[in-house]
Amino acid sequence: MASPAVTWRLRGFGSLAEWERERIEHGDRINDEWQQLAELRNGLTAQGVRGHCPVCAAESRFVCPEVDQGAQVSFRESLLCETCCSNARQRAAAAVLFDAIDPQRCTAYLTEQTSHFYLYLGLRLKKLIGSEFIASLQQRLWLTVWLARHGRLALVRREDVTALSLATASVDAVVTLDVLEHVYDYRRALAEFARILRPGGVLVITVPFYVDREQSTLLARVDAAGGIGHLQQPPEYHGDPLSGGVLCFHHFGWDLLGAIRQAGFADVEALRMRDPAQGLPETLWVIRARKA
Ligand SMILES: [Zn+2]
Repeated sequence: MASPAVTWRLRGFGSLAEWERERIEHGDRINDEWQQLAELRNGLTAQGVRGHCPVCAAESRFVCPEVDQGAQVSFRESLLCETCCSNARQRAAAAVLFDAIDPQRCTAYLTEQTSHFYLYLGLRLKKLIGSEFIASLQQRLWLTVWLARHGRLALVRREDVTALSLATASVDAVVTLDVLEHVYDYRRALAEFARILRPGGVLVITVPFYVDREQSTLLARVDAAGGIGHLQQPPEYHGDPLSGGVLCFHHFGWDLLGAIRQAGFADVEALRMRDPAQGLPETLWVIRARKA
């Protein structure tokens, strides 16, 4: 059965060359955006800004609690929706997803489960399967308690994105936010996403995207025995509210889009998401593809 995914309206870029053409052609507009962002940053209070949240589909306020602590606001990781707690990155991905699919008919897989994003996205979709990459039984129990505290009585699902237990052609959308850079064999994960998607299904990815680079950089290797060899010192760890820090293996450039095409996807594009009215004042890159 084909996926109920529909034609999308948002347009993106398929290569660094396409993006560079746009940057040259619309350089003045892009400079204006930076100027507006600087003005917003200067005037920002903890109360943040108002707008329409594409995650919880409501008018809301996007708050920046770190302003009161004197910290610099990340326009990617902050601007938290007062209703659903989504940050700007999650809203950008949700806007891309809801542009592509009919939520009432969509079964989706999200590579996280113990997050407010999972809980609120689940309210919008016909069915949402979430999972966590769990190291121990103790961690699984702890995460299950978190879910129960938020009204979901279910054992947290354990999945490895390079070897998913989901059936072939079983979902209409896969959403994975800031996960692939932590997966050494990310090509295998992409192949798994292609396998579980129905033809026409949609893949939505965020990663820290190095938009000026053609080639991705490998920061660490895993050998046959599972040992990690660092190619960069010091190693890069990203904050994870669940475990304290997760090793980053990749700085992705535009060749990531080629890897996605090779995994069996078409219409692979990086979308430059910027919409202050949705609490996205700074450009965020979201990668989107369709299962061929
Ligand atoms: Zn919201």
